[in-house]
Amino acid sequence: MRIHELSHRVYEGTPVFPGDSLTRIEGACSIGREGFSTSRITVSSHAGTHVETPFHFFPEGKRLDELPVDAFFGNAYVFDVRGENQVKLKHLDFALFNKAEIALFFTGHSRLFGEAAYFEDWPFLSEELVELLPPKLKIVGTDAPSVDKKNSCEIHKKLLEKGILVVENLTGLERIAEKNVKFYAIPLKISAEAFSVRAFAIEE
Ligand SMILES: [Zn+2]
Repeated sequence: MRIHELSHRVYEGTPVFPGDSLTRIEGACSIGREGFSTSRITVSSHAGTHVETPFHFFPEGKRLDELPVDAFFGNAYVFDVRGENQVKLKHLDFALFNKAEIALFFTGHSRLFGEAAYFEDWPFLSEELVELLPPKLKIVGTDAPSVDKKNSCEIHKKLLEKGILVVENLTGLERIAEKNVKFYAIPLKISAEAFSVRAFAIEE
């Protein structure tokens, strides 16, 4: 059994989507003064690797604290779609896609995380792909900033309206490309539309 880390680190100044608030981690109590340390943390709900729920776009949609913990893990297949700017059905093994519970898309874009180019342009999912979603699909994940192209949210809406969660800013997918793994993207039980996760995969 091998465990693969798939999360970006969240730290003071973590790169975030343009316009989103920067992460701040300030000392509150300190070991020198009070004998212990605590922090005051300001973080965007979309900082680093994160999961999104239907409440991101739908007022009646569920938030993270309203979903059971088993919504955030399951059997995944990692589709190697490097080199494709727009991921279409023809880039995938349809039989594998159609039985997926969790579909992860390895675009290779995470290598640019930390550079301005990361948030300028990225590979995204096509409308055609989300018209024909697998019946058991519960999570879609990507190692890019969004499942949509820049300045669009149609793919998000198509997934989230069906209750399919979205995980973005994954990293490390090269180690599990074209493999079946158990995937975990566990957020806090917080009353919000999204939050950072510790994402990882277990390869049997
Ligand atoms: Zn998103």
